[in-house]
Amino acid sequence: MKIICIGRNYLAHVKELDNALPTEPMFFMKPETALLPAGEPFPYPDFSKEVNYETELVLHICKTGKAIDEKMASEYYDAITVGIDFTARDLQNQCKAKGHPWEIAKAFDSSAPMGSFKKISGLKHPEDIAFGMKLNGEWRQQGHSRDMIFSFDRIIAHVSRFVTLNEGDFIFTGTPQGVGEVHVGDTLELFLEDESLFSFCIK
Ligand code: MG
Repeated sequence: MKIICIGRNYLAHVKELDNALPTEPMFFMKPETALLPAGEPFPYPDFSKEVNYETELVLHICKTGKAIDEKMASEYYDAITVGIDFTARDLQNQCKAKGHPWEIAKAFDSSAPMGSFKKISGLKHPEDIAFGMKLNGEWRQQGHSRDMIFSFDRIIAHVSRFVTLNEGDFIFTGTPQGVGEVHVGDTLELFLEDESLFSFCIK
């Protein structure tokens, strides 16, 4: 199982981090040890002083494929949830400044909490999926899949040119604007459409 994450997929978020607009999807990966089951507390890592939440729609890959045609891509994912792509922003900025890979800022243990998956066909608005996150009871991020720069199908086609997708893999599809810091004691509640999927605390 692998976790693939798309970066810079919402225009307003690209601008808030002062990044360049991508011309094709960019991705990185988190290992299986990054998974944090829904509801379990997130242990604040001792190597960072600036951990950011990034609330994202997460796809479940249901079929193995390589070099998937964009027109066929919708056959390769069937379910969706919401997760957090936790990011050690201070470490990421240091890596960027040195031109180094970001792995230590993105791939660390428990950096990928996610909820239970819902069949996309059973959603109220599968063509424009709403999601969001409340931090300590206040909305911090609210997104819609229609605002993605690269669609789910484009992402599947692009990633599978380079990396075979296997059944059981996950793809984090990028964060909308509003990323920010978490602190010990915070509680995050994640929403898919109008349903509260799960909540967890920072310990
Ligand atoms: Mg992200």
